[in-house]
Amino acid sequence: MNSIILKAGRQKSLLRKHPWIFSGAIADVQGKPVAGETMQVRDASGKVIALAAWSPASQMRGRVWSFDPEVSIDPEFFRNRLQAAFARRAALGLGLHSDAALRLFFSESDGLPGLIIDRYAGVLVCQFLSAGAEYWRPSILEILQQQFPGLAIYDRSDVEVREKEGLPKRSEHVAGKEPGDRISITENGMKFLVDIRHGHKTGFYLDQRDNRLKIQQYAKDRDVLNCFSYTGAFAVAACAGGARSVMNIDSSATVLGIAKENLQLNNLDVSTCEFLEANVFEQLRAYRRQQKQFDLIVLDPPKLIESKEALTRGARAYKDMNMQAFALLRPGGMLMTFSCSGLLDTQLFQKIVADAALDAGRQGRIVERLGQSADHPVALNFPEAEYLKGFCVQVD
Ligand code: SAH
Repeated sequence: MNSIILKAGRQKSLLRKHPWIFSGAIADVQGKPVAGETMQVRDASGKVIALAAWSPASQMRGRVWSFDPEVSIDPEFFRNRLQAAFARRAALGLGLHSDAALRLFFSESDGLPGLIIDRYAGVLVCQFLSAGAEYWRPSILEILQQQFPGLAIYDRSDVEVREKEGLPKRSEHVAGKEPGDRISITENGMKFLVDIRHGHKTGFYLDQRDNRLKIQQYAKDRDVLNCFSYTGAFAVAACAGGARSVMNIDSSATVLGIAKENLQLNNLDVSTCEFLEANVFEQLRAYRRQQKQFDLIVLDPPKLIESKEALTRGARAYKDMNMQAFALLRPGGMLMTFSCSGLLDTQLFQKIVADAALDAGRQGRIVERLGQSADHPVALNFPEAEYLKGFCVQVD
């Protein structure tokens, strides 16, 4: 088998079972591997310490499949990893009903770097994000068809990270009945329409499932401002919880249209809701000029920090919007604020939110710490999997 030979001392992270091998850690490559091929990973003494997929186009040159050099990386290996992940979800009570939506497989955290599988009712939506995952795609798709015979499969591998791996973007129906443009799912008793072809990620923010229950709990008789509403998942939860009014802001008219449909689908009173196509940063300032106030504000922006270089600028954007939001809260109100930037850790995010309150002249207390739902687990050997964090801050 072809080999990656590590520089002296560079096996340390692998011995702690961290699955990434960067180009700077590699002393030599033996053989002529093709993209995605399985390689032995050897330390400087020549000892095999892992088996990894080869990603020649990326700075992340290798991703470990297994730390057991004796194991054979074949379809059976993938079947075992997939089945184990599905069984973990079932053991958590997730995905048990036919129109459930959940992340069935979460990449490194489930032991296969570069592979995402989400289920929306009768459709599996996959993303193959690394050369290794792409190499094994035919086997993985075959296993999925055997495991879920009645379900359709759609490949939503049309994401930027594929380019870093030298892979073209792809978005296509693969197996089963061709899914429609709007798939109806049920989550916590609420219904949502999901556009798996054009929606963000694989169509829906499954990682916010538990936090939607939180807003439902806190929304009663509140005037809610739902910033970055996307398809209105938080709005549905707030209305279901008895909100007095919900103002939804998003820069996309398309997603606001789906948000309205989602509220109607749940027989909620759409007349208490407004849908505003606007830039949140500008709109928060406009509300401040108009001296408009709210009782509960949700800030769930897109990932504002994509790289280490963008950290300072992104941190400033988080601080700015949180400050504006604090200023718009009535006494006793609540800010539910999130960051899905993995490069911004919880501690720093908390500091940003604290500084924002200070600048807005508000005193607040964190009453809930929020995160990604259980189908987006954080493997202990892979802390990078923790990306979504949030706080419920109650202000004086
Ligand atoms: N809270 C949503 C997910 C938010 S995703 C949920 O639970 O489903 C982020 C959303 O922000 C996207 O819909 C995107 O269209 C929108 N967006 C991005 N930048 C924006 C901006 N500056 N102003 C308003 N909306 C923006």
